[in-house]
Amino acid sequence: MRALFISDLHLIQDRPQANERFFEFLEGEAREADALYILGDFFEYWIGDDDLADPFNAVIAGLLKKLSDGGTALYLMHGNRDLLIGERFCEATGAKLLADPSVVEFDSEKILLMHGDTLCTDDHDYQAWRLKARSPVWQKEFLSKSIAQRREAILVMRAKSKEVVQAKPAEIMDVNEGAVREAFSHHGVKRLIHGHTHRTGHHVLQVDGVQCERWVLPDWYGRGGYLEVVGGKSRLVRW
Ligand code: MN
Repeated sequence: MRALFISDLHLIQDRPQANERFFEFLEGEAREADALYILGDFFEYWIGDDDLADPFNAVIAGLLKKLSDGGTALYLMHGNRDLLIGERFCEATGAKLLADPSVVEFDSEKILLMHGDTLCTDDHDYQAWRLKARSPVWQKEFLSKSIAQRREAILVMRAKSKEVVQAKPAEIMDVNEGAVREAFSHHGVKRLIHGHTHRTGHHVLQVDGVQCERWVLPDWYGRGGYLEVVGGKSRLVRW
């Protein structure tokens, strides 16, 4: 079993470099893998599955479909940017939606997968927004707007989010140590893979006397990359 993990690509038409890398990745490494796990923030934003007709979105969906048709199992977890990805997107791409958190088993080892934002418990404003955006009421209201209105609303949200992030102390946007320990403990795993924080890394820690490791996936704003898990070993690949 060879599985690849990516997150935080933030795909959008006007970042051709990340798009090119992604196309190459799909044609190469991903095609040879048994499974590809996308752990959230795949798109810079997703306003609803009715926007699949958008030319850029259609190209991306088509490439994912080609990958899954070619025999690479495709799994997708929501991030904060693309939490409106739904059944229609999954049908179009052959992807299976994964709950956050999810525990998968490879070669009889359980691995915990998360987007990662639920670990950032020190960021209270963000957690309040997360709760709101995940409520059926908010989603229903947002999806009832026209595509043009939703695009406009997202532009405003993205600009606001940029300002807020710049003004925030960096520490509160990272994971909370207690939340990480709780996640290991609660799920009884020794390995956790997540994204969201854009702080690529490999952290080794002791939880309840057991050595655990936390892998943080790279974002694709800079170099990009992925995590490979094969034969019980993890390897971070950046290009
Ligand atoms: Mn995120």
